[in-house]
Amino acid sequence: MTLYHDLLEERGVLLCDGATGTNYFALGLETGHPPEFWVLEKPDLVLGLHCRFLDAGSDIILTNSFGGTSFRLKLHQAEDQVATLNIAAAKLARQAADEHHAATGRKVLVAGSMGPTGELFQPLGMLDHATAVAAFQEQAKALKEGGVDLLWIETISSIEEVNAAFEAASSTGLPVASTMTFDTAGKSMMGVNPDDYARHVGGLGAVALGANCGVGPSELLHSVLQMKIDDAPVLIAKGNCGIPEYRDGSIHYHGSPELMAKYAILARDAGIKLIGGCCGTTPEHIKAMRDAIDQTPPSGDVTLDRVAAEIGQPWQGLDASKGQDSDGQGRGGSSRRRRRRDG
Ligand SMILES: [Zn+2]
Repeated sequence: MTLYHDLLEERGVLLCDGATGTNYFALGLETGHPPEFWVLEKPDLVLGLHCRFLDAGSDIILTNSFGGTSFRLKLHQAEDQVATLNIAAAKLARQAADEHHAATGRKVLVAGSMGPTGELFQPLGMLDHATAVAAFQEQAKALKEGGVDLLWIETISSIEEVNAAFEAASSTGLPVASTMTFDTAGKSMMGVNPDDYARHVGGLGAVALGANCGVGPSELLHSVLQMKIDDAPVLIAKGNCGIPEYRDGSIHYHGSPELMAKYAILARDAGIKLIGGCCGTTPEHIKAMRDAIDQTPPSGDVTLDRVAAEIGQPWQGLDASKGQDSDGQGRGGSSRRRRRRDG
């Protein structure tokens, strides 16, 4: 048993954290600047956001290493910094978790975030399995060296990429969780269905699996509910804070703390055990989710009708072929532009 398994058994539901990118923008991160660089440039701000999520009630925080593979860092001439940046990211989250434990007596988990390479696999693109595994392995080893409790693969859209990331992550011996993004008419950008994803990643041995990012919290739950398959994997819901809207050159999220609290209760009542927010989710939203989970008694099974009644009809008004709303103003359609920086 690892600390992850112990805390899951003890608490039943583990609350994750919220966005990284969105909260850094509020702290002054400029568009186009890699947030991963902040672990060296602004370590106090990185540590501070981790602490705010822990104070708000998160049981799991993710390291600031989403774009930490050599493929992503190469875009900023930093492909030789993989070990340095990922170790630093893990150490900052570890420090926040350890200080929180020392101050409150409450143990929390550090998960090492591993996002996509941004490359397409053969035959659509140039990336092959062995090269991808090597890149993810370099990141995974560094995150382990920096002290993470588990590895967390996120915002993946293809089976080929999750295979490579999973092989690399599990080679460290740490528990591995994995989420895919379903932003295109209920499938991933590469056409994967949620239930197929769940069967596949469950078969690989993930300790938890689910969905993150994409469109809004209602769409996210629509995807994760399809993952309730026979082998009953531990499920993850990490939805955006409302539906992203592209306006004046940037993405905005308008989900209220009340909306995210309702989403958290629906997720909990649906049997989802790891619940958090993605893009747009601030510590204030996480606090509302914590209070809702702790204070609201379970109220029966969760159907799509209940989801629709409480937080909106999934995919309503979104163009089924593009994941974009029908008037072309880009609600869900922003997901591809946003893919560089997941929450
Ligand atoms: Zn996101």
